[in-house]
Amino acid sequence: MAALIPDNIATRPIAIIGAGTLGRRIGLMLCTQGAEVRLYDTRPASAQQAVDYIGGALPALLPTIANGRAGPLVATSDLPTAVEDAWLIIEAVPEIPNLKRSVLANLDKLAPGDAIIASNSSSYPSGELIADVRNVERVLTTHFYMPPRVLPVEVMASDKTDDAIVQLLMRQLPLYGVIPFQVRKESVGLIFNRVWAAIKRESLEVVAEGVTTPEELDTLFNLIVGGSFGPFRNMDQVGLDVVLAIEEHYAQTRPGLPEAPRDLLKRYVEKGRLGVKTGHGFYDDYDAPAGAGGAAS
Ligand code: NAD
Repeated sequence: MAALIPDNIATRPIAIIGAGTLGRRIGLMLCTQGAEVRLYDTRPASAQQAVDYIGGALPALLPTIANGRAGPLVATSDLPTAVEDAWLIIEAVPEIPNLKRSVLANLDKLAPGDAIIASNSSSYPSGELIADVRNVERVLTTHFYMPPRVLPVEVMASDKTDDAIVQLLMRQLPLYGVIPFQVRKESVGLIFNRVWAAIKRESLEVVAEGVTTPEELDTLFNLIVGGSFGPFRNMDQVGLDVVLAIEEHYAQTRPGLPEAPRDLLKRYVEKGRLGVKTGHGFYDDYDAPAGAGGAAS
């Protein structure tokens, strides 16, 4: 079915639902064209911290964006206020499928009829999250990585999404300084996260087999591929419990994946070695709180 296409989008607000690590970074990028950005979070402190974060990061970001102009920021704990008159609503609540299902269903009820509703989920395609949504043609995935440092955003339709919505976002998103890539077929893990999952899986496998160590593999990886952030450092940054949950989700959707990578992760998780957030993971040299180092989970 065709979706209603929003008009006057230059002047209408954008709503971010869930103002944590990603929500505030998405809000930062989307408030660079002068329109209002509303940040809604069930934890009011989180929405206010998001406003403070964006206010601090905008001065350095705006000069890098063509026609960059700061839009007003509003933190709210009232969902109807957050979505009123919005043309685009992006949810970035935690990666819990039932939570996302109910958030999307609620947004569909409250949002203007022509608003686009997007999910930032890394591992659940929007098609798996719209069981209770009536206007499914306006829902899709916009998967941001870690803006403003990592600018790609993957845009993925479900088989119910109106393609006109996808094309509208592909045209519109570059105005905000991000770089959209269209995922041409619904895919668990989108594009880059799938490739990265394969690298992580094989890295875990070679360590599980005793072929090398996490430190030596990271060093080899960085010397050959470039950069300074190998697979094991990255996994420690994301959190080994999160990496395990992601790998278990891949294993459910793609039978036949090797078990050794999950077994190795479980051994670390059982010991409470979750990575940066617990001070220990594959590495032991963490004394700082979890930051924003990773580009992919
Ligand atoms: P987060 O835990 O940092 O933030 C989630 C926020 O949502 C919190 O502030 C929480 O208070 C709020 N929240 C919880 N329930 C809510 C509700 N019902 N309504 C509104 N707000 C609610 O999580 P995150 O890391 O920002 O992840 C959010 C999404 O982004 C996930 O789908 C994740 O897969 C995706 N993502 C994360 C990363 C990453 O590196 N962290 C990268 C790409 C995509």
